[in-house]
Amino acid sequence: MPENNALEKINITKFQQDLVAWYQAEKRDLPWRREQDPYKIWVSEIMLQQTRVETVIPYFRRFIEQFPTIDSLAEADEEAVLKAWEGLGYYSRVRNLQSAVKEVAENYGGTVPADKTQFLSLKGVGPYTGGAVLSIAYGLPEPAVDGNVMRVISRILTVWDDIAKPSTRKIFEKAVGKLMYKKDPSSFNQALMELGATICTPTSPACLLCPVQNHCQAFEEGVQQELPIKTKKKSTKKLRMGAVVLQASDKTVLIEKRPEAGLLANLWQFPNVELPDGTNPRTFLETFIENEYGIKAAINPEKLIEITHVFSHLTWEIDVYFGTVKEKNEKDRARFVSAADVETYAFPVSHQKIWKHVKGMEQ
Ligand code: SF4
Repeated sequence: MPENNALEKINITKFQQDLVAWYQAEKRDLPWRREQDPYKIWVSEIMLQQTRVETVIPYFRRFIEQFPTIDSLAEADEEAVLKAWEGLGYYSRVRNLQSAVKEVAENYGGTVPADKTQFLSLKGVGPYTGGAVLSIAYGLPEPAVDGNVMRVISRILTVWDDIAKPSTRKIFEKAVGKLMYKKDPSSFNQALMELGATICTPTSPACLLCPVQNHCQAFEEGVQQELPIKTKKKSTKKLRMGAVVLQASDKTVLIEKRPEAGLLANLWQFPNVELPDGTNPRTFLETFIENEYGIKAAINPEKLIEITHVFSHLTWEIDVYFGTVKEKNEKDRARFVSAADVETYAFPVSHQKIWKHVKGMEQ
């Protein structure tokens, strides 16, 4: 609970009315808002983590078309599921979703459990997803607190705790629990999310248009730009990588499947390796290809393209080269595939960019 007495100052009933009335009148028409099906709402909430609404809309439509029910996702090949997620990033989200959905199919007769403890015990379902799905699909008065909602509430109640600390979330969950509109938790939670997305935005909150301005402590004190408090993460580690598009004389190219666990698990990629400082990328890559795949490659000296990809904890700076091989050798998880087939495999975004570049050169 906020240490100040902001919650006591607020007229909670009026706050709920102002917020929910605004939401009912102004809410954006999003495909998952037309749904009551807990499975579809669950999919949308997982997609929306770390990803913008505009990006999610076409993915959501395609995903639901391909996997319209719990059973269809539970029974799908992981390869097809990863392909449908390709480009959204944070692939552990969809792997966990599929594991959780399998559990729902096996243990709950294919119905998403409406019990909080049961739902939160599923893989990848944290307090935010749990609160969002249970309130939106089942109308339960559970808080759904993510970074967006923490920002809004930190301003309305002038909470000065650091939202980068995991322990701070509890403060906000308690506060949202107190403010909760129990007659319609679905609209209340979505209204807070909508307010954060459209009005109470991170750098320039549109306070003059805000439906709860009268209730907002930060606005009253003129400190809305100073909240929330969020300490900066340490800068991310940089990794210099070399990658190669390796073509055989029949124009097939070498791709390999990443390991089953860890970053971007089970996605496909072009051969790549970390380049130690001071190495000649071309000779280093030729040696790597020979040692790793048993293939003698001739790599062009000119770089094809440089690609930077930023993960939350790591940045890849990839120098991409083109090379040719006389003899193919398919080892372990590596295989040569035709240009037409490359696109049927699920690649991480950085390697999709590599392929897009190569295709562009051929046109
Ligand atoms: Fe956010 Fe301003 Fe509204 Fe307060 S008045 S909730 S700071 S937009």
